[in-house]
Amino acid sequence: MIFITSKTSDGNMSIFCGDPTTALNNQKKFSKKLGIDYKNIIELKQIHGNRIIKIDQPTVKINRADGLITNRPKLYLMIKAADCHQIGFYDPKNKAIGLIHAGFKGLKKGIIKKVIEKMAKFFKSDPKDLIVKLGPSIGPCCYRMDIWKKAEKQLTDCGVLEKNIGNPRICTYESEDYFSHRRAEDKKENDFRFMTILGL
Ligand SMILES: [Zn+2]
Repeated sequence: MIFITSKTSDGNMSIFCGDPTTALNNQKKFSKKLGIDYKNIIELKQIHGNRIIKIDQPTVKINRADGLITNRPKLYLMIKAADCHQIGFYDPKNKAIGLIHAGFKGLKKGIIKKVIEKMAKFFKSDPKDLIVKLGPSIGPCCYRMDIWKKAEKQLTDCGVLEKNIGNPRICTYESEDYFSHRRAEDKKENDFRFMTILGL
């Protein structure tokens, strides 16, 4: 399984922020670095909602949603972010994965509960087996909402075991390694996105 996040030095990864051709080239370069076939990466148009899509094959269609699930190996789920959570779910028993984009709005709309329910429905995933990894996101140090704690609480409320939750607690606002939407606004920087990829 791979769960990896691009860095500022890899460039902007969102075709919806800045120049789309550059973003696409950055995505291609990053996947090449990982040894991943670019065509197997599944991208979404993220809308701060709670819609989750099950993916069974590579597709060029860009759905409007904030989460992806699959049990197919070598399909790579991708979420773009700059402060929001990217949360990856891995069910080692049933060999299934899920990846969501969850900022304050997504958390409020219950996207964590929804992805866990969908993985249970389609892959028979039991929350207590799930290994959950969070990517870099804005910390309580720099944002009035503590989305770290909020996400962790929602995960444990859904039955995920505390010992199975990995949050690196890297604040995107403070770390120059990652893009931050709020830092971009405050410091008049380019409002770009990094990406997190999860695949079996
Ligand atoms: Zn911070």
